[in-house]
Parts: sequence; C-alpha cells; structure tokens
Amino acid sequence: MPNVKTAIVTGSTSGIGLAIAEALAADGCNIVVNSFSDTPQDHAIAKQIAEKHKIETAYIKADMSKPDECRALIAKSAERFGSVDILVNNAGIQHVAPVEEFPIGKWDAIIAINLSSAFHTIAAAIPLMKANGGGRIVNIASAHGLVTSPFKSAYVAAKHGILGLTKTVALEVARDRITCNAVCPGYVLTPLVEAQIPDQMKTHKMDRETVIREIMLAKQPTKEFVTVEQVAAATLYLCSPAAAQINGTHISIDGGWTAE
Ligand code: NAD
Repeated sequence: MPNVKTAIVTGSTSGIGLAIAEALAADGCNIVVNSFSDTPQDHAIAKQIAEKHKIETAYIKADMSKPDECRALIAKSAERFGSVDILVNNAGIQHVAPVEEFPIGKWDAIIAINLSSAFHTIAAAIPLMKANGGGRIVNIASAHGLVTSPFKSAYVAAKHGILGLTKTVALEVARDRITCNAVCPGYVLTPLVEAQIPDQMKTHKMDRETVIREIMLAKQPTKEFVTVEQVAAATLYLCSPAAAQINGTHISIDGGWTAE
C-alpha cells in the first residue's frame, strides 16, 4: 500500500461516518468524504478536515441507494487520489414500523443504502486494492446485525446481511492482503438515533425520556450511549497493521447488549 493511504468513508457528513473520517485523517490518510447531497456545507466539512489534519480531502457526492453512483464513487476517488486503500461502508438510514405496515419504499431504500451499496463499493474497490498490494474494508453494521428488535425489519435484515457479506468477502480476498471486517455498535447518540425517538414515542406511546431509558438503553447493560469516537477508534484499529490477521469478523461496541 502507498505511504499516504486514501480512505473512502460513505455517509461521512454526520455522526459515526464523520467521526471515522476525522480519525482516519488524524492518522494521516487522505479522505474522501461522501453523502448524497452536494451543498456548500458538504464541501466545507471536507475542507475543515483537510485543514485540521493537514491531509488532502475531496467531497464526492454519490447516492448510496444507486448502484451506479456507488461504483462511480470508487472510480472518482481513485482518479482523484491514485489509489483506494481503505473503504468504510457507513452510510445508513432507519425506519421503524410494524412489518405489516412497513412502507415498501422504505424497505427498498434501507436494503439499498444499508446493504446493497456495500456490495457495489466493495466490488469496485477490490480490483484497485489488489493492484495496490492490499487494503482494508470495514462495514459499519450494528448490534442489530447480531440480534433483533421489533419494528425494525428492514434495518435488521440489512445489518444481518452485511455481516454475511463481510464474511464472504473476507474469504475471497484473504490471500490478497485485504481484510474485510465489521463494527457492530449498540446505540450511539447521532442524528440517526435522534430521528428515531419521535417514531419510538409514537409506536410505544411513551415520552422521550422513557423511550431513551426503557427502549433504547434498555438493551445496553451499561445504560450509556456508545460515542462516535469509540466506533471510530475500533474502525481505525481494524485499518491498522496490528489488525492484519483480523478478517471476516466483527467488533461489538454495545456495552454488553449482545452478550445476553
Ligand atoms: P447519521 O444519520 O448521523 O449519518 C448517516 C450518514 O449517511 C449521513 O452522512 C448521511 O448524509 C449519509 N447518508 C444517508 N443516506 C445516504 C445515501 N443515500 N447516500 C449517501 N449517504 C447517505 O447516522 P449514524 O448514526 O452516524 O449512522 C451511521 C451508520 O452507523 C449507519 O450505517 C447506521 O446504521 C450505523 N449504526 C448507527 C448506530 C447508532 O446508534 N447511531 C448504531 C449502530 C449502527
């Protein structure tokens, strides 16, 4: 791999993705910041990361619900920086509803963004990583990739799916100095989780504080939210030389949730 690595983090204008982009930049990687929009704010985020960490960044718009844009993100990143060394599939959305009322469009969008996008980016990145002599792929899954909760059928299906994809890819590239792993966070207080609170309040007929304590952190034995920095640190570790023999597995960061 080249001295200065290039890392692509999908969905990195907010929450966990932004923290991962920051951590990889602090480690000296050039960063491709991505989201589906193309606003001055998106470009400003990339510029701030570059200035803060004295590395190069590019904001590349790509809608992860669209296969062609997923693949184009990888091609444009390689064109801009000359290589793709680290791919973090992080973009994700959520919708909470009973399965019989689950909107078909929401199901399709969640499967596309939370699962199929990783198939497309991985397929496009692997030839570049092989040509470069190695690479790292980290898929941001979830505790919901291992266990389930009611009313999250699409999200849980996508997150279980991405762990299967992670293990399959890991075996396929094991001889190419490429590793493919997942990180499974419990509840991290990000805009995605914040946005679930009103739906959960409606579904469970509870106030905000009760939803946080009884529904969200009910499953997290530590009763504390995971931080974005903790997820970023695990991702950085999986991209480090120390993790060269970690392949086809996941790191849970869920305060003990999935130990039950
Ligand atoms: P977030 O809403 O803060 O950030 C999501 C990011 O994805 C944003 O940058 C958004 O612009 C981007 N995005 C959304 N749709 C996109 C699309 N179509 N194309 C490109 N980018 C798109 O969410 P977050 O909480 O930081 O979640 C990030 C990942 O972590 C998701 O995969 C999520 O499932 C996973 N995760 C989150 C939690 C949690 O508690 N927050 C727990 C476990 C796993």
